[in-house]
Amino acid sequence: MPQLARSEWYDLTRDMNWTLSYVTEDQAFPEEMSNGFGVSTEQWWTWDEPYKITYPEYVHIQAGKDASVYAVNAVVARSKVYEQLDPGWKAAILAHYGAVAVPEYVAGIAESRMARFGRAAAWRNMATYGMLDETRHGQIQTYIPYTLLHKEPRADWAHKAPHTNEWGAIAARSLFDDMFTANDAVSTAIQLTSTFETGFTNLQFLGMAADAMGVGDLEFSALISSIQTDEARHAQQGEPTMKILIRNGKREIVQKLLDHMFWRSWKVFALLTGLSMDYYTPLEHRRHSFKEFMAEWINKQFVDQFRDFGLETPWYWNEHYLNEVNWLHHAYHLGVWTWRPTVWWNPDAGVSPQERDWLEEKYPGWNDSFGKYWDVITDNVRAGDIPLTLPETLPMVCNMCHIPVCTPAGFNAGYLDSPAPLIHDYQGRRYTFCSEPCKWIFTINPARFQGHLGIVDRFLAGHIQPPDLGGALAYMSISPAEAGQDATNYAWAHEHAPLLVSAP
Ligand code: MN
Ligand code: MN
Repeated sequence: MPQLARSEWYDLTRDMNWTLSYVTEDQAFPEEMSNGFGVSTEQWWTWDEPYKITYPEYVHIQAGKDASVYAVNAVVARSKVYEQLDPGWKAAILAHYGAVAVPEYVAGIAESRMARFGRAAAWRNMATYGMLDETRHGQIQTYIPYTLLHKEPRADWAHKAPHTNEWGAIAARSLFDDMFTANDAVSTAIQLTSTFETGFTNLQFLGMAADAMGVGDLEFSALISSIQTDEARHAQQGEPTMKILIRNGKREIVQKLLDHMFWRSWKVFALLTGLSMDYYTPLEHRRHSFKEFMAEWINKQFVDQFRDFGLETPWYWNEHYLNEVNWLHHAYHLGVWTWRPTVWWNPDAGVSPQERDWLEEKYPGWNDSFGKYWDVITDNVRAGDIPLTLPETLPMVCNMCHIPVCTPAGFNAGYLDSPAPLIHDYQGRRYTFCSEPCKWIFTINPARFQGHLGIVDRFLAGHIQPPDLGGALAYMSISPAEAGQDATNYAWAHEHAPLLVSAP
């Protein structure tokens, strides 16, 4: 049997478009599943993936990737590696598993939708591989924590978290429903693949993989590197989709979809990756600060890519995004550490004297702003007054990002002229937002968001009983044994800065 070169048959097998005759185009591609934005079918048929792969090649590569991840797991699971990991690093990986494992599996729905409703056969072909990718990511990121269960019972939050009403899970579900489970195939290609995956997943999957190697967590490093190679491939579905829209005069639509999802992605990555990189990763193994990673991968590489398409940075870039990148995750960290019983990991305060020096160096002004709050907390811990460091109420939560409103009063990098929370009344209901871009996303499409109840809305509506912290923890499915505690049992608060002693 003659073996044809791939180049001789690839286009024939990938490009199986045909003119529909039994149904109309609208019946086959209803707008809610695939918004063509008025671009003609023939134009969509020019869709050309930048990365070519065939099914036999795909299966061969993926089988090899899985084999190596499971081989590392088989060795590490019998070792003491996990027990010897730094408590802060354990916080980072438990947070990761709960926030990422099932949403990856759910991203398979996004890929499946593109695999059926993508507007060209070549696109549907690539999305089929993406669907298999995301299924694999869901599986390996629930399997690996499953093998940790006898050492860390809360590793089951890898599967449990998205099925609860824990506040971070509500925020993540709201984001992912907006981005892909309730999104059409064309918008998904722009928002999930071009914005979220091309821009942000590098932070969590390459940045954290590098930190994991330093920490000695070979398993986590191998796991998430394996995933990122798939993401780098299927994220490329956005580029040809954007090109067709822009070539057909739809630049404004692409820009709006990008501006919308970039902001929502920023908020969640500040919460997840910001805390892990700047507070949870052991100081001696931090390669870059979160802000430095953002500067390299977002402010430079990601923006360069979008400029190449003739797009602009989002309208809020300077005033809001470049402003928040200095301080938002520091504010989130103070909040998460204080409300630590409401998360499934043990937050590491990460503010020993040496760590504070590092924070001041990377974020000049940190001591005069966030350090002041930690001074008070440190005094309370040293006085043995732990209850004073714990919350008694729920914070105000943004009705878009669903993360607590965090704009530390007086902090020199915070918003000076638009104090949060922003109040917005719409059709008889009052909404609160943490920032102008969160409010903007609501106002450009209120029908999409107006029915949602955030955790505090649910509290006020009487869904949470009894209406106190205990009732809230039960509502979030957090048992006393699962509730987060300080990762090092407050060791950081008892360290003193080295005294400068001058020689006699
Ligand atoms: Mn994935
Ligand atoms: Mn993906």
